[in-house]
Amino acid sequence: MTLKNAICMAAAMLCLNVAQAQEFPGNRPVSAVVPFAAGGPTDKVARELAMVMSRHLGAQVIIENAGGAGGTIGARKVAQSRGDGYTVLIHHIGMSTAPALYRKLGFDPLKDFEMIGEIADVPMVLVANKALPPSSLKELVPYLKTNAKTASLANAGVGSASHLCGLLFMHAVQTELTTVPYKGTAPALTDLLGGQVNLMCDQTTNLAGQLKAGAVKTYAAMQPQRIEAFKDIPSAREEGLAGIEVKIWHAMYAPKGTPAPVVEKLSAALQAAVQDKGFRAKMAELGAEAVPAARAQPDSLRAHLGAEIAKWTPVIRAAGVYAD
Ligand code: ASP
Repeated sequence: MTLKNAICMAAAMLCLNVAQAQEFPGNRPVSAVVPFAAGGPTDKVARELAMVMSRHLGAQVIIENAGGAGGTIGARKVAQSRGDGYTVLIHHIGMSTAPALYRKLGFDPLKDFEMIGEIADVPMVLVANKALPPSSLKELVPYLKTNAKTASLANAGVGSASHLCGLLFMHAVQTELTTVPYKGTAPALTDLLGGQVNLMCDQTTNLAGQLKAGAVKTYAAMQPQRIEAFKDIPSAREEGLAGIEVKIWHAMYAPKGTPAPVVEKLSAALQAAVQDKGFRAKMAELGAEAVPAARAQPDSLRAHLGAEIAKWTPVIRAAGVYAD
């Protein structure tokens, strides 16, 4: 190929990319990968968001669940997808803990994605099957020390929010429990209700129905103050355990190389969605909080992700936990 031909071809490709970006989304649906099981907390935030975002984007946003390995399988899948805007990732705090937990992660959260923006913050609650004897966190701690060999703690795999929360809890009470990983906390909750596992740290977006029905035993809200929607649950701090607070933030990403105008369109639709009254009310009902529009933006997500990686990496290194 002559140099002239190569330049012409490169220019034509560029024009094609610009044209495609201008047309985005056209009449094609956008696939939003949720790296956990259907029906769980990340999935619930994603499905509520997808409905509202579809209206603002002018194209359907379809949820695709790709669970496993604490959310890293789905995230890697999106990192390796075409950066055309038709595949995005909806993930949570796990984006910032995975680099410290996985030595062979296969993607770099900061380098292999275009940031679109944050979505919502969700609190966590330590819950158990109703048959577990202790009736408060103060009673639970000595009970677990005596029953460490038999007590089990469910999570959604190494790198999930439930794993991080469980890790902080076990570290605080200086007791190692048997952990049972699932593809998401939806199947884990089913087993907890059935009595196959004892305990779990989970997001209110998954637990809301069970909390309202009194179907699980609640020990503590894993945040400094009580949760607005579930005021009867004491905070871990009130029960004497400080330093185990964890707020689960969710965000949207596109594969690296997604054209800037496409990222802008996705981010604009996300900003409109987080300001939507119905979406905000739905999140509040589930104990969560939709972020303000200023956080549903690429620059603020990049800064937040970087700060969260810097926050959690030393905590995880100190715990000496690795997934691989
Ligand atoms: N968000 C949950 C967790 O990390 C997993 C899920 O969405 O099912 O524990």
